[in-house]
Amino acid sequence: MTLRIAVVGLGKIARDQHLPAIAVDPDFELAATVDRHGGLPDVRNFEAYDALLASDLGFNAVSLCTPPLPRRAMAAAALAAGKHVMLEKPPASTVTEALELAAMARSGGPTLFATWHSREAAGVAEARRRLAGETVEAVEIEWREDVRRWHPGQQWIWSAGGMGVFDPGINALSILTEILPEPVFVSRSRLLVPSNRQAPIAAELALNLAGGGRGGAVFDWRSTPRDTWEVRVRTARSALTLADGGARLIVDGAQVDCPERAEYPGLYRRFAQLAKAGASDVDLRPLQLVADAFMLGETERTEPFQD
Ligand code: NAP
Repeated sequence: MTLRIAVVGLGKIARDQHLPAIAVDPDFELAATVDRHGGLPDVRNFEAYDALLASDLGFNAVSLCTPPLPRRAMAAAALAAGKHVMLEKPPASTVTEALELAAMARSGGPTLFATWHSREAAGVAEARRRLAGETVEAVEIEWREDVRRWHPGQQWIWSAGGMGVFDPGINALSILTEILPEPVFVSRSRLLVPSNRQAPIAAELALNLAGGGRGGAVFDWRSTPRDTWEVRVRTARSALTLADGGARLIVDGAQVDCPERAEYPGLYRRFAQLAKAGASDVDLRPLQLVADAFMLGETERTEPFQD
């Protein structure tokens, strides 16, 4: 079954990752785009999402690459129209919205795939395998990047619902929830919010594990000499680090050879498999942890942030 797919929201991630991944995957054919700025040469474009759904275009899948706010309504409309749906992360802008989508997926019908691209990074599957059945004593996340480099001019990310530094931070939480053999909870949260913005530029979380282990997470967007995207886990028997956003796995100081993987081609391969199997994959734990961090957040106002 070929998936004739429409890509919705031709921003940074759609152009950098989704379109190239679709182009090389024989299970997909790019049927259309939704873009308010004209789209791509030689590909049918719709200026509004509703126009796509109301059109005579033959397509059976959509990939939603907009910011999170419009995602639930777009996904619900596509599922109701019988289209397979792939969601960029986060799957929706609130937990309740995401739960409603998950319920739609459970009731049968087309595939819903809530993607977490960082889980496709090369070291993640092996880390999960090694941690299965282990007693985890401590976890530590350090996720630092320069917002000016990675999110230049993105105003939505600083608005209420844009999630601020949790936009990248949720990637770390998607890795953590994938590799840990037990539930993890946020027990405290400190949010640093620039005085002229609605969303945090940095956050520090205290974490508890169901089995008694403890840990923390630091997400920081303030300019640093280099990016750090690390998840570290200490068990009773070893110390494991996922570095470079999950691409490198280091166990007790030695790098582990993991087969090379590209994140977005992996996501599209999985989307095609799910659609063929008539299945869905909707894991909301990373979004729930972010919501918990906001709910428990002790907010401090910091100096204004100018792009
Ligand atoms: P972006 O560069 O701001 O692009 C968002 C795109 O969505 C823009 O083209 C925007 O169009 C369009 N859009 C917004 N609302 C729309 C609507 N109602 N109908 C049609 N198009 C709409 O953002 P991005 O960085 O690509 O991020 C998008 C999503 O991908 C976010 O959820 C983010 O977390 C995720 N993501 C981003 C990255 C990354 O490195 N950037 C990595 C992984 C995942 P206008 O310009 O007309 O508003």
